[in-house]
This record gives sequence, structure tokens and C-alpha cells, in this order.
Amino acid sequence: MKFADLHLHTMFSDGTFTPEELVLRAQNVGLACIALTDHDSVEGCERAATACANVKMEFISGAELTAEHEDTEVHVLGYFLDTKNKTLLDRIGKFQAVRQNRIREMCAALNKLGIPLKAESVFALANCKSPGRPHVARALVKEKLISNLDDAFEKYLKKGRPCWVPKTKMSALESVELIHQAGGLAVMAHPGLNRTDDIIPDLVKAGLDGIECFHTKHSTIMSERYLEIAEKYDLLVTGGSDCHGFSKKQPLIGGVKLPYEHVEKMKAKVAERKAKITNGHK
Ligand code: AMP
Ligand code: ZN
Ligand code: FE
Ligand code: FE
Repeated sequence: MKFADLHLHTMFSDGTFTPEELVLRAQNVGLACIALTDHDSVEGCERAATACANVKMEFISGAELTAEHEDTEVHVLGYFLDTKNKTLLDRIGKFQAVRQNRIREMCAALNKLGIPLKAESVFALANCKSPGRPHVARALVKEKLISNLDDAFEKYLKKGRPCWVPKTKMSALESVELIHQAGGLAVMAHPGLNRTDDIIPDLVKAGLDGIECFHTKHSTIMSERYLEIAEKYDLLVTGGSDCHGFSKKQPLIGGVKLPYEHVEKMKAKVAERKAKITNGHK
């Protein structure tokens, strides 16, 4: 049996592995195929693709877009993206700028509380275009301004705490369209984690292609529920570990193994859509 992990992060967002380290880990846990899905970024895809090619592992370029629909935050995974697509790069560039501004605002809020963390230190540590709260937490620990990452979230960074700053998000309907115009498939990430069940019908109407049924934080019952929903709406089934490297204790890669038949169905859908576009242009 061949298996895939279609939800992975690297240091191009808030993971800790380089693309090469990630591929090595994937190889060690026996995966035949991986997708890179950094938050609002496709920057790591080229290096990951090269590293996969070197060890004959299949690679799918992807991203995890932070979006919202009717005040519900939803993460939309894009797969088989053209990582050079200008519209995609322009739009995610805008949301990367939003993320960078948000880091400045979080640091200003920390400074107001007398915690002397500079945005520049966070940027230096993150060293990527798509920084987030985990980088602020790591910078606080690194500068010995707090003892551990959990405390950083509990005291300052989680929703409702004094240094939490809301993030302007893309509309979920736009994210589906953006992924499609870049040649990709749009998949709702971890619905059991974000509690996004109620918005599934609207996203399906907008052209959602799949749903992440298998995820580290989905119980067996949850996965079964989303498999039923996938069947009801004729959605593709995906799954992944959501590994962030060493940021959350042990790396999660290898914990969720998606049977490869689901990847084959995804590839068939991408091919079908491409064929339609080509015929439409004739
Ligand atoms: P951001 O995109 O900047 O809002 O950061 C979201 C990321 O922060 C998520 O991907 C989680 O990995 C991490 N995160 C969110 N809440 C917590 C928490 N309470 N403790 C640790 N990490 C968290
Ligand atoms: Zn993350
Ligand atoms: Fe997510
Ligand atoms: Fe993720």
C-alpha cells in the first residue's frame, strides 16, 4: 500500500523544518507522496519538489489559505497549484503583508505591557514572508521574556488576550476561485478543528473540490462523519498530519497516512478540469 501526507508546513511559514528536512522525514516514515501546504505561501514548493525528485517521492505543490465566510475562520487548502501563477502570487503577497503588519501590532501591544520585544527580532527569527503568532511566541522564549510557548499564547497571544490582533482574511469564496484559476483543487482543511460544518454547503456551491477527512486532531468518529459528508456532496477525500516540525513537541509527520487511491482521484479531477479548459479554447 502507498500512502500520502497532504498537510505539511516548513520554515516558509510556521513550521521548523526546511523543505529538505521535511522530505527526509517523509521518506523515513515511508510516505510515497507529500504535499507542502504552508500558510499563505508557496515559497517552499520549488525546493520541496527538487528534494522529492531526488528521492523519487511524488510531490504536490500546495498552500493553506487563511480565509473566512460569514465570520467563521476557515482554512482552505490548494493542491496542484501553479506556483508561478501571477494572480495567486499577488493575492497571497497582500495577505503576507497583512501578516507582517500584524506582527508589528502584536509587538506594539507587548511593548505597552512593558515587554520589550521588537518586531525586527520576530522577522529575523521567522525569516519568511508569512510570519505568524508562533514566531512571536518563539521570539519571546528566545529572548527569555517568557518561559515557554504555551505560556506565550495563554498570557498574550490567544484570542481575547491583550496582545491578540485579529487578522484580515480573504473571503473563502475568493480563495476557492483563486485556487481554481491557478489550476488547483480547493479543499476545506480540518473542519473538525475550525467547526466549519455549517458553511460546507456554501463552499460546495462555490466549487469546493474536497474535504480533509483525516487530520491529527480528528477523532475516528469525526473522520467518519466527514467521509459521509464527502460522499453526500461528491467531494474528494484528503488527509494530512499538519506537521509543524518540532514546534509542537514531536513532529506529527507519519501520524496520518492517506491511502494513495485518494491522490489518484485528485489527479483525475485536475486532469479532467484541464481537458475541459483545453477543449473550451479550441
Ligand atoms: P496565526 O496564523 O498567526 O494566527 O497563528 C496560528 C498558528 O498558531 C496555528 O497554526 C497554530 O499552530 C498556532 N496556535 C494557535 N493557538 C495556539 C495555542 N493556544 N498554543 C500554541 N499554538 C497555537
Ligand atoms: Zn501553522
Ligand atoms: Fe490550519
Ligand atoms: Fe496547517
